[in-house]
Amino acid sequence: MSLLTERFHKVTPYTAGEQPADKDIIKLNTNECPYPPSPKVTKALEQAAADFADIRLYPDPDANELVSAISERYGIRRDQIFTGVGSDEVLALVFQTFFTGGGELLFPDITYSFYKVWAELYGIRYRTIALDGQLCIRADDYLDEAAAGCCGIIFPNPNAPTGRVMDTADIERIVAAHPDCAVVVDEAYIDFGGVSVLPLIDKYENLLVVQTFSKSRAMAGMRVGFACGSKLLIDALKDVKFSFNSYTLNRISIRAGAASMKDEEYFRECVDRIVSTREWFSQKLKDLGFEFCPSSTNFIFASHPGMRAADIFEQLKRRKIYVRYFDLPRIDNYLRITVGTDEQMSILANALEEILGTC
Ligand code: PMP
Repeated sequence: MSLLTERFHKVTPYTAGEQPADKDIIKLNTNECPYPPSPKVTKALEQAAADFADIRLYPDPDANELVSAISERYGIRRDQIFTGVGSDEVLALVFQTFFTGGGELLFPDITYSFYKVWAELYGIRYRTIALDGQLCIRADDYLDEAAAGCCGIIFPNPNAPTGRVMDTADIERIVAAHPDCAVVVDEAYIDFGGVSVLPLIDKYENLLVVQTFSKSRAMAGMRVGFACGSKLLIDALKDVKFSFNSYTLNRISIRAGAASMKDEEYFRECVDRIVSTREWFSQKLKDLGFEFCPSSTNFIFASHPGMRAADIFEQLKRRKIYVRYFDLPRIDNYLRITVGTDEQMSILANALEEILGTC
């Protein structure tokens, strides 16, 4: 057995947030949308059910219906778009395509923890760059000597789990400083706050912007994500994808994703509701003595000077309220709280009041 296992590729996988089976749990631990997807998505699913015999056929390997919908919504060319099974798949392919050629990949020390996992999976050398004291990414740390010899840069904007957003001008400085390597901006949460750098993809051939349907489009369970960039980058991604699996997105996800992209009104309504809940709940957290930076996302990253985050996390869990806690350096006293419905956040606020009252 040991001879066999020695041949295995051993890695330490990413730990996803818990997906409990119990429906009574108030689930604020994986940044999902608390509202259902667009009614147009429901219609598309009904249509897919009516055409169910079609699932004997492979899906369109180029996901043309979805690519066209994204192209129309963002006013970009179809050859500037790449789609995948959630942005996680897109990002995994990004790592494999752009960062395995040697050199050092740079990303922040506090960020989406999957980046480290992919780097290790593909044997990519990487260096993490510390966020500043306000938990912000400093553009200067990714320029000149600081970034010499790098083979690529990746960071989320807004960053996760901090929720802090970067200025377009700062991102542009980083992209412009590295014309010879891919700079990837993971915009999983962009719809809740920051300004997308999508308009810059025509100006910079090395910029790739990755987005997801999992958060602002309420489709985490459908697994749809996409990347936008120059034809050069998109073609390279497609070559790797088609060397791996031609049929990534299934027929139903393609249809549902396209339908969602076509319902701008519902999308805006959903995002506006989440942002307004975030604002009142932020005030509530402040009143309870929590400390946090303003969030530009659908979550709040907060700590409390009077009680350890790990203890609050456990006490909430006992009350069937799940938030996310990362036992990692620099952030092990923070909770990442997804913004749910007004009702869910009121229940959470009451529970926190009770928990802190006993500390
Ligand atoms: N990027 C960031 C920063 C995230 O937080 C997530 C969600 N875990 C993802 C990408 C992946 O999202 P999905 O695969 O659902 O599109």
